[in-house]
Amino acid sequence: MEQKIRCTSCNMGTYEKKKVPYVFLGENIGTFAALVCKHCGETLFESAASDKIEMEVKRKGLWGLRARSKVSEVGNALDVRIPKSLVQFLSLEKGKEVILEPIDKNKLQIIVE
Ligand SMILES: [Zn+2]
Repeated sequence: MEQKIRCTSCNMGTYEKKKVPYVFLGENIGTFAALVCKHCGETLFESAASDKIEMEVKRKGLWGLRARSKVSEVGNALDVRIPKSLVQFLSLEKGKEVILEPIDKNKLQIIVE
């Protein structure tokens, strides 16, 4: 069944039902039913699909990787603890070299090579 409602993003196109691949943190989660704007491509997952996506993301251990950590002092440098879930996701291990790259005054990116 086609929906004749206008796209909330561009206000030009109408939506059509499609199966759309969903990628989360670089991992392909699967293909899910969504409404896609014919004009701009805006994609809305329906609530049943959103529930499935959330389940799949949790099953793959990708849920809630954002974490809070405290800065501690080690010698002359500061140390930030990385929680185990992130260590596993990034395949980090002791002794591995990473690149620290400031994004702005509030953001630090850690690149694992
Ligand atoms: Zn649109």
